[in-house]
Amino acid sequence: MLVTRATAPDHEAVYRIEDTASGARGFIAIHSTRLGPAAGGLRMRAYDSEADALEDALRLSRGMTFKNAAAGLPLGGGKAVLMGDPARDKSPALLHAMGRAIDGLEGRYWTAEDMGMTPKDMVTLSEATPFVAGLPGGKFASGDPSPVTAEGVFRGIRIAARHQLGTSDLGGLSVAVQGLGHVGMHLCQLLADAGVGLWISDLDLKRVAEAVNRFRAVATDGANLLEAPVEIFVPCAIGGVLNKTTIPKLTAGIVAGAANNQLSEDADAARLAARNVLYVPDFVLNAGGIINVAAEILRVDDRARFVADKLSVLETTLDGILREAARKNVPPAALAEAIVARVLLSSAA
Ligand code: NAD
Repeated sequence: MLVTRATAPDHEAVYRIEDTASGARGFIAIHSTRLGPAAGGLRMRAYDSEADALEDALRLSRGMTFKNAAAGLPLGGGKAVLMGDPARDKSPALLHAMGRAIDGLEGRYWTAEDMGMTPKDMVTLSEATPFVAGLPGGKFASGDPSPVTAEGVFRGIRIAARHQLGTSDLGGLSVAVQGLGHVGMHLCQLLADAGVGLWISDLDLKRVAEAVNRFRAVATDGANLLEAPVEIFVPCAIGGVLNKTTIPKLTAGIVAGAANNQLSEDADAARLAARNVLYVPDFVLNAGGIINVAAEILRVDDRARFVADKLSVLETTLDGILREAARKNVPPAALAEAIVARVLLSSAA
């Protein structure tokens, strides 16, 4: 197997992995280990080119640095990507090759599930390296992170509602949830229990039918969801949903969801603010999942307590960011990035 060092100006280290025997090709990007070992999942996708795979690894690993720091976790940011269709190209040999590459970093990078990976794949990876979290069993196993992500997002939505609408009681409000996957469906349950009227969309019509059935949600297609008569828009599907085309169509006064990288470009934060839409920075709001995984990486004995404490920190942090952003009249996303950048600068290298 060939592991070569690539470079990226903003990153501590980037490794290109190629294993001809298994066909494994991908990258491990370590953005920062200032706060602790770099942690972030392994993604497998049919990228169009190596350049695309590298760009994804770089962008996602930087995002993990910010997410972990904002959540107050003693972890840095990293991410690994494998090129290929997970349904067709994944094999134990390929995962073992990635596992060996991770092992060679001697704990500077910890992996877990991301798109295209399952808990079972983590078990396969763990045959080649101990630096794997998201395992389905074992003393510290953290299991599915999605319910914790959903809980963090739910609490964040309440905080955002207090700032923007003057009440954290969501009863009677209307909320649009895009994406009814692991996080979205849990979140719908929490919102429905809080007395929210739900508008929903998903490409998977079975999930749409389930949500209509369980929550009496109003189903709509993707484009129309943006214009649904709701107070809060909750992206829980894909990145890039907020851009110069979609932002003018939004009816909601709050955007707060689990999806990573919701803004298409930095300027979208200002576009939302200009329309008086409160955009809750995704990397702060959706940290529940990594909090759950962190308990496994850090070998925490009382995981429930750790998760509860860190979710409270997340609430306090978010409340502070929204308050300070309003006082300074700046977009919360820009302020959150600046705060985390300061934390990173002031920490020991
Ligand atoms: P998932 O794959 O389980 O669900 C995503 C859902 O979105 C699927 O049902 C899919 O059909 C739907 N979808 C895809 N494109 C869509 C579109 N254009 N319109 C409507 N629906 C669409 O993913 P998940 O684990 O629920 O994660 C959701 C988002 O939250 C992702 O962006 C993920 O990166 C992010 N996130 C997840 C976690 C976690 O703990 N799972 C943590 C942090 C961030």
